[in-house]
Amino acid sequence: MRRKVGLIGHPLGHTLSPAFQQAAFDHLGIAAVYRAYDLPPEDVPAFVAGLRAPDWLGVNVTVPHKERVRALLDGEGPEATAVGAVNTIVNDGGRLVGHNTDVVGFRDALVEVGFAVRGARCVVLGAGGAARAVVYALRAGGAAEIVVANRHVERAQRLLADLAPNLPSVALPLDAAALATALAHCDLLVNSTSVGLRPGESPLPDDSLPDRALVYDLVYNPPQTRFLAAAAARGARTLGGLSMLVGQGAASFTLWTGRPAPREVMRLAAEAALARLAQR
Ligand code: NAP
Repeated sequence: MRRKVGLIGHPLGHTLSPAFQQAAFDHLGIAAVYRAYDLPPEDVPAFVAGLRAPDWLGVNVTVPHKERVRALLDGEGPEATAVGAVNTIVNDGGRLVGHNTDVVGFRDALVEVGFAVRGARCVVLGAGGAARAVVYALRAGGAAEIVVANRHVERAQRLLADLAPNLPSVALPLDAAALATALAHCDLLVNSTSVGLRPGESPLPDDSLPDRALVYDLVYNPPQTRFLAAAAARGARTLGGLSMLVGQGAASFTLWTGRPAPREVMRLAAEAALARLAQR
């Protein structure tokens, strides 16, 4: 039987997941087809119910369905519960289980560049679903301090109350003056807002960025955001979002198949798909 697997979201726009997931299935000779399904919210319940059929391995889930899809599932992993968002659904013999692999994708990308989270002072921009996965991973990794800055500061306060209640942490507005002290002393600055998807935009002014920290942008398209370019120009080390994307996808692949993911194959396919997008 040819198995089905895919991605649900709305609107989906250009996504890299079909290219690098299909490359992984093909590389291991697994008969499966990975497709993108652009589903408005009202179509999600019936679609998810259909995932219990034996030909479905499961799906990835992206905005805006990551939170609401939880109520449609039969169980979930501990990261999904803590983060409050599901980015992977696995059809386990007719039982639908939700997972959050953004946590491991974010963490593995830091491991790859040799950044030690333990004891680190961290500044996280954003308080949406991705920021929740980031803060969960930082707390689990032993970060010493987490500052969360968000346009709507009450969302940052809620995030910290949910995910890092016992850590030295503070919620601030997304504002360079308010963040000046934290930025001057941080070891890691993460952009988990969606600002940067459009060329030239950045969540903070160029001259407010730290010069010694690792500066990590979860945005992967464009690969070199203004945020990363400005940080590099100031002398900071930088990390783009593509390795997290591949890492979360590799973890999803293993949950669906029980097999180690061919990460290098996936990374090369993701880079090639991103380059094709850039040429359009
Ligand atoms: P989300 O839940 O919709 O959250 C969006 C965040 O961006 C919120 O904090 C929001 O602030 C902020 N924001 C949006 N527009 C803004 C603006 N004009 N000015 C200031 N802040 C603004 O989205 P998400 O799922 O967390 O995703 C966030 C980003 O992470 C996206 O770019 C996504 O592509 C990326 N991501 C990457 C990966 C990866 O594997 N590399 C994985 C997941 C997500 P408010 O709360 O104030 O509205």
